[in-house]
Amino acid sequence: MNRTRIARIFSSGEANNDITVMGWVRTRRDSKGGFSFIEINDGSCLKNLQVIADEKLLQSHGDAQRLQTGCSIRATGNVVVSQGKGQSLELQASEIEVIGGADPEAYPLQKKKHSFEFLRTIAHLRPRTNTFGAIARLRNAMSHAIHTFFQERGFIYLHTPIITGSDCEGAGQMFKVTTLDLNDVPKKNGRTDFEKDFFGGPAHLTVSGQLEAEIYALALGDVYTFGPTFRAENSNTSRHLAEFWMVEPEMAFCDLQGDIDAATQFIKYIFTYILSNCKEDLEFFNRFIDSTVIDSLERIVAKDFEVLTYTEGIDILTKSKEKFEFPIAWGSDLQSEHERYLCEKVFERPIVLIDYPKEIKAFYMKLNEDGRTVRAMDVLFPKIGEIIGGSQREDDYETLLNRMRETGLNPNDYQWYLDLRKFGSAPHAGFGLGFERLIQFVTGMNNIRDVIPFPRTPGSIGF
Ligand code: ATP
Ligand code: MN
Repeated sequence: MNRTRIARIFSSGEANNDITVMGWVRTRRDSKGGFSFIEINDGSCLKNLQVIADEKLLQSHGDAQRLQTGCSIRATGNVVVSQGKGQSLELQASEIEVIGGADPEAYPLQKKKHSFEFLRTIAHLRPRTNTFGAIARLRNAMSHAIHTFFQERGFIYLHTPIITGSDCEGAGQMFKVTTLDLNDVPKKNGRTDFEKDFFGGPAHLTVSGQLEAEIYALALGDVYTFGPTFRAENSNTSRHLAEFWMVEPEMAFCDLQGDIDAATQFIKYIFTYILSNCKEDLEFFNRFIDSTVIDSLERIVAKDFEVLTYTEGIDILTKSKEKFEFPIAWGSDLQSEHERYLCEKVFERPIVLIDYPKEIKAFYMKLNEDGRTVRAMDVLFPKIGEIIGGSQREDDYETLLNRMRETGLNPNDYQWYLDLRKFGSAPHAGFGLGFERLIQFVTGMNNIRDVIPFPRTPGSIGF
């Protein structure tokens, strides 16, 4: 069906004859003078197009009653500069047709403001609201920017598996993947006999594509993944999903400093891109959700990130007079209240925290000369806390083997991973960025469940 998208009409800014638009009716208002004013949205942009239709036109089609909030319509006519306020454009309809009706009594999206909690229960209709339409367009633009950033720099987009055989990749709890009959599980020596399972062994949903990305980085140089990732941790927070999207670049011949530089440039690139390409949607969030979002994006683009060691971070926290809920001690993980304090109160910018104690980080991170810390880097953001976790990887065979033993991993399960350190090993580094956390920051949305189309969280699998 031939149609012009509403975003096109507004971006051209010009009057134009014989234009057809198709979309969904947001509101309809009838004037005493015999005209209907119909606001249509087609998802291509935030703004509605106002369609003006003579009542006779609606009646001649028998659509006068059906044309209500929520219905889908086609409208054809001339786009003209509107008489009213501003210099906006409107469509004077010469033809109008209701394509799919919507009973106004039953349609759940009423003109009043709905809570985000309520909208989660109607995830099939919430993309028709301003907020969720804008989030979907931002997700799209940011995905585009992510690919462009890496493609412009010669990175290879790599597809790592979603089902994985290694049952511990050093991050979070995993979901099992099985075709065994859960009501009649085959046993061997009192334990589940996975030999009878689909893959002949235990299988899980991936928590990260990193280990596989390392394989390809040590062949192709620079690679990145961008795909779904799963964590079965039962954390009901506003920053955790059971299924989320992660971007994971992995770079050969790269050390921790190179990793920090890549992460910084990457974030600045995405923010610069949306500031110039998603103005209307960002202004919407700035106006209705969080009045600091645009300013925050601009500041982040303009300023350097603060790089400091974990030890320095702990030092600042210990000396601060702030009352924290969780205690601070060298060797324990920072809570998001600590991360946010450092970003928001101390440095007023994103910070990159490096050189964490090895005990609280994964086995694959490169051990520093002190033997106690590893070359990790977490990028911490105001309002969000951790947004990126990365590191230089251990590239020395013996050290890696020791770290595996120390952390209770069976080296036999990682023979291929160790091999990479045996045949043409090279310093390499990478990071994982949680896509939804970045969108939370960009939009100011409080709950991570509202920045992904269909959130998966403990106890909830609707839609
Ligand atoms: P956190 O401590 O915040 O739970 P993590 O240290 O377990 O995160 P990593 O394994 O370092 O997370 O994953 C890399 C990035 O993926 C994180 O920096 C974060 O942005 C994102 N991330 C991790 N877990 C989740 C989740 N459950 N839901 C959404 N994003 C997540
Ligand atoms: Mn992390």
